[in-house]
Amino acid sequence: MHQNLRIPGPTPIPDDVRRAQSEPMIDHRGIEFGEVLAEISSGIGELVATRYEVLLLTASGTGAMEAAVVNTLSPGDRVLAVSIGSFGDRFADIAERYGAAVQRMPVEWGQNADPEDLRRALAGAEPYRAVLLTHNETSTGVANPLRELVGVVHEAPGDPLVIVDGISGLGAMPFETDAWGIDLVVSASQKAWMASPGIGIAVVGERARAAEAEARMPRYYFDFAEARRWAAKGQTPWTPAVAVLFGLRVGVRRLMAEGREATWARHAAVAAGAQAGLEALGLRLVAPEAHRSATVTAAWLPDDLEWSPFNAEMRRRGLVIAGGQGRMVGKILRFGHMGMVGADDLASAVRVMGEVMRDAGREVDPAAAADTTLRAATSPAAAR
Ligand code: PMP
Repeated sequence: MHQNLRIPGPTPIPDDVRRAQSEPMIDHRGIEFGEVLAEISSGIGELVATRYEVLLLTASGTGAMEAAVVNTLSPGDRVLAVSIGSFGDRFADIAERYGAAVQRMPVEWGQNADPEDLRRALAGAEPYRAVLLTHNETSTGVANPLRELVGVVHEAPGDPLVIVDGISGLGAMPFETDAWGIDLVVSASQKAWMASPGIGIAVVGERARAAEAEARMPRYYFDFAEARRWAAKGQTPWTPAVAVLFGLRVGVRRLMAEGREATWARHAAVAAGAQAGLEALGLRLVAPEAHRSATVTAAWLPDDLEWSPFNAEMRRRGLVIAGGQGRMVGKILRFGHMGMVGADDLASAVRVMGEVMRDAGREVDPAAAADTTLRAATSPAAAR
């Protein structure tokens, strides 16, 4: 049965990406591979608006987060981790595991980080070496006001490094790496980039690169200096996920052909559709209106709607969405809409969700909710 994969990554893979991923294997130390690497790096660099380097690591996003930490920090460094959910906590945990003196700025799950709260957390404290931020918190469907947060960090004593988990937002939501003053941002191939899981992406700015020279956290596989040295020769230090890179090249080409603003507008429109559709099913959204993610929408599960049977029935009917993570297990559902996604996919997902709810005895109108989704996702106002 056709599966409508609507989780926040891995995302559905376009046919041309899938074909590319099944191309015959090549020598990862040959000229052809160097061309693949170079095209992906320069394409991603353009899409995220950086003039600095884009390193491609064979790892999932978490590997790229770990790489960001170990290449820039030393044990004992003071790090402020601004966590708004499960992935923010993960970033803090990684830094802590490697010996950083991590101070957490906790924010209630479902809310965004407030720039003024960040200002207060930074003021009156010993200077921090780095601040860890999440662009788009996939566990709650909340988009942080990243540009404002980064601005606040740069005004803080010691001008800490700004290290960003951009895994589920990059390539889909507005992002200006250099102009916003982001020193290091990571992402992963299975998100808006539309390829299979396996490649971590690290955009390393000037200040992050300078920090590497002093950073004493242990690193081997993820050593940026090695990645950089080999990238100059069109290679990676270790055997890379060649097939995923083939696919990622096509994903990046697709995004380049669409154009950044058009991609962002498409995601904003589809997100508006998802939000309207879930609300039409009587669900309450988790994120505050001004900070809703364009790539994943989370809604509270009503008390009398139990996740496990609800999820099992949706899956039986071909719809795959995500439940909550960590402390949100059983409390929310999450609907992914990044990468290859259009209004129709979402409308049919909302319809199936509505049908399962209706068949379980709830008063919902699946066809009307699907229609609401489609209208919200295709109205010019939604696409702004
Ligand atoms: N951070 C965010 C914001 C994510 O969405 C994810 C993946 N869901 C990760 C980190 C972890 O990435 P991975 O699962 O690829 O290790």
